Amino acid sequence: MSSVNDALDDARLTYEQHMRTCRQCHADAAHCAVAKHLLRMYNLARRDRMRAGGPAAPTA
Ligand SMILES: [Zn+2]
Repeated sequence: MSSVNDALDDARLTYEQHMRTCRQCHADAAHCAVAKHLLRMYNLARRDRMRAGGPAAPTA
């Protein structure tokens, strides 16, 4: 039951897919508004996982 992990993976995949397909990000060599939003969602999900003590934060 690791819904936090799923959210993190989902956010990362969505962001990576955007970076591969977004013309605006490639044209400007800068993140468009959507990319910034997705990256922010990813960072928030990653922070949540750290707080939840996921695989990246061993408690032993
Ligand atoms: Zn973009």
